[in-house]
Amino acid sequence: MTRTSMISGIRPTGELHVGNYYGALKGLVEAQERYEARYFIADLHSLTTHPKPDQLRSYVIETARNYVAGGVDPQRCTLYVQSSLAAEICELHTYLSMVMPLGELMRVPTFKEKAKRHPDNINYGLVGYPVLMAADILLFKTERVMVGEDQLVHLEIARTIARRFNQLYGDVFPEAQPIIENAGRVPSLAGSGKMSKSDGAATYISLKDDGTAIGEKVRRTVSDPLRVYREEPGHPTVEGCNVFHLHSYFTGEAERETIAEQCRRAEIGCVACKGQLAANLNAVVEPFRLRHARLSEADAVDVLRIGRDKAREKAQSVIAEVRQAIGLLMV
Ligand code: ATP
Ligand code: MG
Repeated sequence: MTRTSMISGIRPTGELHVGNYYGALKGLVEAQERYEARYFIADLHSLTTHPKPDQLRSYVIETARNYVAGGVDPQRCTLYVQSSLAAEICELHTYLSMVMPLGELMRVPTFKEKAKRHPDNINYGLVGYPVLMAADILLFKTERVMVGEDQLVHLEIARTIARRFNQLYGDVFPEAQPIIENAGRVPSLAGSGKMSKSDGAATYISLKDDGTAIGEKVRRTVSDPLRVYREEPGHPTVEGCNVFHLHSYFTGEAERETIAEQCRRAEIGCVACKGQLAANLNAVVEPFRLRHARLSEADAVDVLRIGRDKAREKAQSVIAEVRQAIGLLMV
């Protein structure tokens, strides 16, 4: 039985934290069991901001290592770097760009926002970002796309492009449906906002932190601001206590209920509660850390080569069909 095809893009960033694990990685690992899954490291997309060449290369390799260490299995899915299929993606991008009105691209909220924040760097590629994303998706006639909520507008554009292309040239592309990433934002250790890499290493639990570092970071995290003394009852809710909020993502329901009960009765103090959280975080991080250490850069590059070849086979057959549909002379 053929599986429904799906795709998801991964930003080439150097390091992952437990927020990325919960919000992105976990979903990809689960999806590869159910779908014909393709995951790509979106290095072409990242060029809109002109990363340094050496840094880009090392980030791509590290990202592949991270995702494989996190359970993305090259036997169960296709993991490739976007630029390794640049010939096919960029060719399709050209065709798709002809059916997409410029005015609509310039009205996309994410574009307007970026243009406002970086008025000195409104490059052509930035405007065309959603068209390039449409090429990523349509290149495999993909049926599902795993995205964060913030990418839904872009996916809608990909659907529009598919529809317009089909109207002009016949029924070539399906209109891809979204699969939304794990909802919920793992909170920052700083006590407000979501966990983010850009806020500094003290505010997140890296998937490479060891048990001692995790214990130390969790110990320093703000907990319930209204509970000043150990003898006072606490407020174990997502809103009332940042540590409890973190428990809601990384601690099983039964254990969480017990902690909440003990906290409300002042039977457990913040130190012990944080100890339990640190242990549960370490249970997520440790297997990752060990697998990551065993995986060399060369192993990661090998995985990407295998992925490139698998992805290219399908991509080239779609490109041939598209050329035919458009009426390009095959010489
Ligand atoms: P940056 O600070 O550079 O934006 P980040 O830490 O926010 O980095 P991203 O690279 O933007 O991480 O996001 C990678 C993936 O992880 C995305 O799918 C995003 O939705 C998810 N993600 C990021 N932070 C969290 C979080 N705190 N909780 C859940 N998911 C998250
Ligand atoms: Mg982010």
